[in-house]
Amino acid sequence: MSYDRVCLIGLGLIAGSIALAAKRRGLAGTIVGTARTAETRATALRIGLVDEVFDTPAEAVAGADLVILCVPVGAMGVVAAEIGPHLAPGAVVSDVGSVKQAVIDAVAPHLPDHTVFIPAHPLAGTEHSGPEAGFATLFENRFCLLTPQGASAAETDRYRAFWEGMGALVEEMDAEHHDRVLAVTSHIPHLIAYTMVGVADDLRRVTNSEVIKYSAAGFRDFTRIAASDPTMWRDVFLHNEDATLEILGRFTEELFTLQRAIRKGDGKALFDHFTRTRAIRRGILDAGQDTDAPDFGRARKAE
Ligand code: NAP
Repeated sequence: MSYDRVCLIGLGLIAGSIALAAKRRGLAGTIVGTARTAETRATALRIGLVDEVFDTPAEAVAGADLVILCVPVGAMGVVAAEIGPHLAPGAVVSDVGSVKQAVIDAVAPHLPDHTVFIPAHPLAGTEHSGPEAGFATLFENRFCLLTPQGASAAETDRYRAFWEGMGALVEEMDAEHHDRVLAVTSHIPHLIAYTMVGVADDLRRVTNSEVIKYSAAGFRDFTRIAASDPTMWRDVFLHNEDATLEILGRFTEELFTLQRAIRKGDGKALFDHFTRTRAIRRGILDAGQDTDAPDFGRARKAE
């Protein structure tokens, strides 16, 4: 058993999945938690995510040897200030925020010296939220990136084992680097999906629902991504401003290049660009990072 008493602050998709996975794999003795609303706390208890719920984060963390903050990025600092004085000596404090440097800056000042801070980000999720959205296999074969803050190798290894126990592939990364990588692989793609679905919705008013009626896989994928939680994504952009603005600038330049190629009828430029991006897709499949893809099995066999 990895930890005796695990406390989850926030009881939504990610916390719910941690609770179910940790229970199934025997990684926690007791799992307790808290959420902002009484409704979420009651649901989490009713569906058996946690053994006990508390009304406040301060009460919830008492006696826990692992505390994981599973609230939106913008709420991490407030929660940390609330729990700081109530954390048990030696407790490991972690989070699952999609941005790392801003969370570290907001949380670390509130943690007493007798605790250990190991921020984390599981690269796994869905467009659903809330306690009933969680499922035990969410982290299987997905990366979980750790950005330890002065934790010893033994403490980090113990926490690594917790995530590996839930099926994750764990790697360590510098927080600033994490934020740049995720801006490219997750944050800007979400912004593009939000933009495209907005554009299509404007058109829908003109074309009387044709956009939905004839939506092929590409656009349907966009609508799924653009259905992601607005609070979570607002906080991601507000707290990863530098990296997302930088990548957005590069993206806009590329878009203008393609726009010019279309206008000039430059088929070679378009063909070369699409050929390059096709090779990137192949690389993702070969790395086993799209288990939902129809050709995932083929890629695995090729390993
Ligand atoms: P979620 O399903 O919406 O759950 C969020 C939880 O946080 C809820 O229990 C909510 O309580 C609580 N909460 C919301 N605002 C709060 C506040 N101001 N103060 C205290 N508690 C608050 O969200 P999630 O998808 O699990 O995301 C949680 C964290 O995981 C975020 O930091 C996100 O960046 C990160 N993450 C998400 C994904 C993903 O794909 N969803 C993937 C990786 C990491 P109530 O229900 O009572 O309002």
